Amino acid sequence: MPDVRTVATHCPYCALQCGTRLTRERRGVSVRPTDFPVNRGGLCQKGWTAPSLLDVADRLRHPMVRRDGELVPVSWDIALDTIATGLDRIRAERGPDAIGVFGGGGLTNEKAYLLGKFARLALGTSQIDYNGRFCMSSAAAAGNAAFGVDRGLPFPVTDLGGADVVLLAGANPAETMPPLMQHLRSPELIVIDPRRTATAEQAALHLQPLPGTDLALALGLLHIAVVDGRSDTGYIAERTGGFESAWQRAMSWWPERVERVTGVPVSEQRQAVRMLAEAGSAYVLTGRGAEQHSKGVDTVSGFINLALALGLPGRPGGGYGCLTGQGNGQGGREHGQKADQLPGYRMITDQAAREHVAEVWGVPPEELPGPGRSAYELLDALGTEDGPSALLVFGSNPVVSAPNAAHVTDRLKALDLLVVADFVPSETTELADVVLPVTQWAEEEGTMTNLEGRVLRRRGLQVPPGHARSDLEVLHGIATRLGEPGHRYPTRPREVFEELRRASAGGKADYSGISYERLDAGEALHWPCPDGEHPGTPRLFLDGFAHADGRARFVPVEHREAGDVPAEVFPLTATTGRVLAQYQSGAQTRRVAELNEAAPEAFVEVHPDTAARAGLAEGARARVTSPRGSTVATVRLVPTMRTDTVFLPFHFPGDGRANLLTSDALDPRSRMPEFKVSAVRLEPEREVVAP
Ligand code: SF4
Repeated sequence: MPDVRTVATHCPYCALQCGTRLTRERRGVSVRPTDFPVNRGGLCQKGWTAPSLLDVADRLRHPMVRRDGELVPVSWDIALDTIATGLDRIRAERGPDAIGVFGGGGLTNEKAYLLGKFARLALGTSQIDYNGRFCMSSAAAAGNAAFGVDRGLPFPVTDLGGADVVLLAGANPAETMPPLMQHLRSPELIVIDPRRTATAEQAALHLQPLPGTDLALALGLLHIAVVDGRSDTGYIAERTGGFESAWQRAMSWWPERVERVTGVPVSEQRQAVRMLAEAGSAYVLTGRGAEQHSKGVDTVSGFINLALALGLPGRPGGGYGCLTGQGNGQGGREHGQKADQLPGYRMITDQAAREHVAEVWGVPPEELPGPGRSAYELLDALGTEDGPSALLVFGSNPVVSAPNAAHVTDRLKALDLLVVADFVPSETTELADVVLPVTQWAEEEGTMTNLEGRVLRRRGLQVPPGHARSDLEVLHGIATRLGEPGHRYPTRPREVFEELRRASAGGKADYSGISYERLDAGEALHWPCPDGEHPGTPRLFLDGFAHADGRARFVPVEHREAGDVPAEVFPLTATTGRVLAQYQSGAQTRRVAELNEAAPEAFVEVHPDTAARAGLAEGARARVTSPRGSTVATVRLVPTMRTDTVFLPFHFPGDGRANLLTSDALDPRSRMPEFKVSAVRLEPEREVVAP
């Protein structure tokens, strides 16, 4: 890919995928926002500073192999030969499932697709999953159950601007995707969040439940809607099924009981339902706050049930949606890097799906492995008798981002072979046996799928530095050394996308009508887009839901306690999340001076009374301890915090990792970890007490 002077592309970070134009100037690369519909000329601080990523001082430029305990630069041939020799040996000794693959929600569609194919064919392993399991899998499971398909927003972001009321449950876009807020200026906002976030500050109504009780609140809101006669009985009868069974569960969630469990006053519950029901146009949106629980799927289902009872989904000017997190959180879960899925959002256990994909790949269907372990379960099994002894990581930093982080770090250390492909050093590359320097955002071509299911072109501005290669070339290099025919692993993104189109044809996420040519011509293509003449589908469900009978489903759900319940030794609840100036594990944003200056270190938000009881003042160093371990953070006194709750951002490394606290409790269906609830105690840093 040659250098060009200027290019239209998208921000490398979150799922909003703001439109940008990059220009190479004498002083370096400059960025400016474009009038793309999601950002309309806006960018957040991360987007404005993204070009800094292109010349970070410690950019990975050479492949490295660990020798005598040190990572030393080597040629690509030596690095790839080392990997292939190790994988061959491990596979011969322990079988293909002794090799694991861990992908990322920031990978392009082409990379995610080829990674899934590489794992199933070149390695023959079932053990592939990705960090999107930590991010959106609960909303995906709930969306599939209710609507028969999962697309973050089944309508364009721009529709939100015409709403009268928007309920945001566990989402803080004012910090996580600020340009989205311009679409939320005119609707009245109802925000459900244990913290008074920047988004809650702008809300007409802020409900502040105890972390882990959002499901009780969703049940209570449904209860009020029905009892107060505010449900849409005509819509329920015509467009849905299963209302009675869902109502049987919600029936006992009287507002007073909900107040006792959640702490949200009855009057505020009633006001929320009144606002939604009386709005001419209303949307219910969920985010990680609703999802990252051991009951995350049920919690999201609870909010979808509320939206259905009010007659919102599948109507012009109304709906339910989920605000996707990672840059390609949507596309990343559609093309086969998830343990239970094949391209086109097909299930790997579905025989017809296996036959279709196997035909595209040119192999018999029985050659495809079955479903593997979910992300945390895969990490938990590393180095154990039954688990993988080799792991290949692409675009992820699980040492910081995985729950129960100290345990996960130990598991990674127990591997015989850890290979990490990334473009900057991370806490996970520090443990690797082989590190592969790969291209990043402005150095590569490809496609991403944003939170509204719109497929976007990522375009390259300049060649990568040093010896960095694209992930596609890496997969080709390993696969051919393992004896695979090279043509199965194309290195040109366009070629991979052409194959992805065929593999996705007829699936839920059908990309077969989308092409680079159409995208480059400026067409706005939302999947499904089943042929080259199809205009794409910006709005799903207007004519019916994706279940065979065209109806949406209420899903009966019941509140239950979190995996951790605060008690004497650990009396507080810690919840984790993001801040504006950092992104995910921080491996990228901690290297950008302006962002690091804005958010330089781990902190813990605490109510002043709670801090005083623990003997802590503003700026003090606090130790926060859960049954898993402890983390150290600087105290920020926040009078709007609940006195029983503390908040820690999860972007920071070392002993500031918030995920040293989080547990291995998983949702039984989505297998999403419970990042939002950990029982903790708070004390000055010096008082070190074993957990
Ligand atoms: Fe980038 Fe997301 Fe910020 Fe837009 S909102 S500039 S996509 S990080």
